[in-house]
Amino acid sequence: MSERTPTCWLIHRRDYAPIIRGLWNSGLSCCVNALLQSMFTTEGLLDILDRWKPSGHCEERNNVLLQLRKALHTMGGERPQPDPHREFLDCLHRNSIHRTVQHDAHEVFLSILNLLQQQMTSTQLKEEILDLYKVNIEGHMRCSVCTFDHEVNSYLLSFPLALREGQNNLETCLQSFFTFQELTGEDECYCERCGKKQPSAQGFKLRSLPKILCIHLKRFRHEDGFTRKLYNQVTFPDTLNFPTILKPEHISEVFQKDHSPYSLYAVVEHSGSAIFGHYTAFIRPPGDHSWHYANDSLVRQVKWDDVQSSYGGKKGGGTAYMLLYRRQDHEDQGFSG
Ligand SMILES: [Zn+2]
Repeated sequence: MSERTPTCWLIHRRDYAPIIRGLWNSGLSCCVNALLQSMFTTEGLLDILDRWKPSGHCEERNNVLLQLRKALHTMGGERPQPDPHREFLDCLHRNSIHRTVQHDAHEVFLSILNLLQQQMTSTQLKEEILDLYKVNIEGHMRCSVCTFDHEVNSYLLSFPLALREGQNNLETCLQSFFTFQELTGEDECYCERCGKKQPSAQGFKLRSLPKILCIHLKRFRHEDGFTRKLYNQVTFPDTLNFPTILKPEHISEVFQKDHSPYSLYAVVEHSGSAIFGHYTAFIRPPGDHSWHYANDSLVRQVKWDDVQSSYGGKKGGGTAYMLLYRRQDHEDQGFSG
């Protein structure tokens, strides 16, 4: 058995939960700061990064993987540092995630995952990073006349959930994502069997879920050249159980029906408007049942009620933008021994 790396305390020791420390805001880094706090509490991520040994020439200062690994280790190190992520921010800047630009946290999250994939030279570890977040889905296009079903498998690294006007809850947003849309009139699709355009039903079915589930609440709507923010309330639970949320027609035949539930462990929150905003994060580290609120350099312990304050509903107030859940069987494994 290989020797455990020092990061494993994050995963394997119940009695030693990591200390959450603040991150200095350098320029407009609140977005990256909030994401880093969520990655710090993402079980399994640092473990994968730690197992990578760069082969051949690797320019360390431009390598997002090495700089992320270093930042996460320094954040959890013995000596507190105000800016353990300085080199990571510089590295992102050199990889086109500029530090003086206001970013969209979800876009930066996907860009970081993309850069990790590109710069990872080990095929196995590249797959492991992908598998950590990968939601496998089945795309269907079913002809309403002859019932021919064109099926394509694909995957998502986060669930993009559209919000409706008024109040929303996560469970119905997820159901809507998997509800088939009827395509008629101008939207009819070509059916291979009928050999012409026909009214059709289009949608997705869930095939499998990852260890880490990222949910993107689509609060920014682009219309007529403008971006507006949806402040609508979206309630979400701390435990998410897919088999009880989704209906039989939402899930593929291959989906594991007795799937483990998920625990919420990070909420990336956006305050302010679409033009000017600020990102913060609610996080719950593995091995620690208490919630922390990280607002750049400031970190304080909070209650679940405070996390729920990010449901939204009030203009200008903090609103949950990304939700991160960890699969409970994965979490339980971490607590064994
Ligand atoms: Zn047809």
